[in-house]
Amino acid sequence: MTGSLPSSMAESTTSAMTDPFGRTIKYLRVSVTDRCDLRCFYCMSEDMTFLPKSDLLSLEELDRLCSAFIAKGVRKLRLTGGEPLVRRNVMSLVQSLSRHLDTGALDELTLTTNGSQLEKFAVELRDHGVRRINVSLDTLDPTKFRAITRWGDLDKVLRGIEAARAAGLKVKINVVALKNMNEDEIPSLMEWAHGKGMDLTLIEVMPMGDIGEGRIDQYLPLSLLRARLATRYTLTDLADDTGGPARYAGVSETGGKLGFITPMTHNFCESCNRVRITCTGTLHTCLGHEDASDLRKPLRASNDDTLLAAAIDRAIGLKPKGHDFIIDRRHNRPSVSRHMSVTGG
Ligand code: SAM
Ligand code: SF4
Repeated sequence: MTGSLPSSMAESTTSAMTDPFGRTIKYLRVSVTDRCDLRCFYCMSEDMTFLPKSDLLSLEELDRLCSAFIAKGVRKLRLTGGEPLVRRNVMSLVQSLSRHLDTGALDELTLTTNGSQLEKFAVELRDHGVRRINVSLDTLDPTKFRAITRWGDLDKVLRGIEAARAAGLKVKINVVALKNMNEDEIPSLMEWAHGKGMDLTLIEVMPMGDIGEGRIDQYLPLSLLRARLATRYTLTDLADDTGGPARYAGVSETGGKLGFITPMTHNFCESCNRVRITCTGTLHTCLGHEDASDLRKPLRASNDDTLLAAAIDRAIGLKPKGHDFIIDRRHNRPSVSRHMSVTGG
C-alpha cells in the first residue's frame, strides 16, 4: 500500500530498546536548552559560552524526537537543561507531550528545575499532566545561595516551591553535597524538606565539564555524610522501588525519605534504564562517558521516523556497561568534557 512502511521497517521504528547488557531503556531525559538563569559554581563557569540558538532543535523537533523514543518503549520522560523553564515557549512542548499521557503511552512527564520560574509555571505544568517535579536547592541561606548560584535569589525559588505545592505538584528537593559549603546545613535542609512532606536527595559532585577550578575542593563523599547523619538520625534502608540511581533511607525522626545518589562511591550502572538527549539532538547513552550519537541528522533527513529509529537502535546497541568517574589529586580534571547543563542532570 502506498505510504505505509514495509513491515520490517515499521517494526524497527517501534521495537523496544534493549542494550547489549540486557537493560531495557524506559527512561529518557531531555535537555531542552543548555542555557540557565543561574551559574551554580559546580555546574558552570561564570563566563560560560552557550550554544548558538541556530544549533538547537526546534520545540517541534524535540517533540518528534521524544515521541520516537516513546514509540520505542520509553515510559518516563524528564525535561531538564540548563534550566528547562527558561526555554522560550517550553510550555507548548509540555502541552504537546502530554498527549502521550492521555493515550497511556507514557507513565510520567516530569522535570528538573532550579525553581526560579516555578511561580510563573506551576499551574500550567499541573494542567499539562505533570504530577511530580525535582527542584534543585543546595542551601536555605540567602548569602550562601548567592555564592553557590553566583546571582540567584533564594526567595524567588522558595516562592516557586510553594507555588508548585499549592498547585498540587509533589516536589522532591535535590541537594548537591558540597565540601565546606553546605555540609553543615544538610540536617536543617532535610528537616525543612521533610517538614513540608518533600523527599530530599543528596547528590555527589560529578567531574563533568571544565568549570574553571578543580573538583577536589568540592567533592564530599556521601558515605561520610551518611555516617555523620546516622549519629543524629535513625536511617533505615528502604527497598529500591525506582530502578534509578538513588538509594533511599527512611528517617524515623522526620518521617521523610532521604535519597543518596553516589556515582563516585557506588556504581549504579548495572540497573541503568535511562538515556539522555541534548537540545541539539545528540544522544548520550551514559552520563559518565564521552559516547555520543547524532540524531539530528536522521531526524532532519526525512519526515518519517525510519532513519531516526535505526539511528536510535544503533546507539542503544553501543550503550557502555558503566561510567568511569574519578576524582582524586591525580585526576582533578573533568572525566567527561561535557557540562551537566549540556547533557541534562
Ligand atoms: N537547572 C536545573 C536544575 O538545576 O535543577 C536542571 C539542570 S541541572 C544540570 C540538574 C541537576 O544536576 C541539578 O540538581 C544540579 O544540582 C546537578 N548538577 C549540576 N552539575 C553537577 C555536577 N557537576 N555534579 C553533580 N550534580 C550536578
Ligand atoms: Fe543552572 Fe541547574 Fe546548572 Fe545551576 S545546576 S547552573 S541551575 S543548570
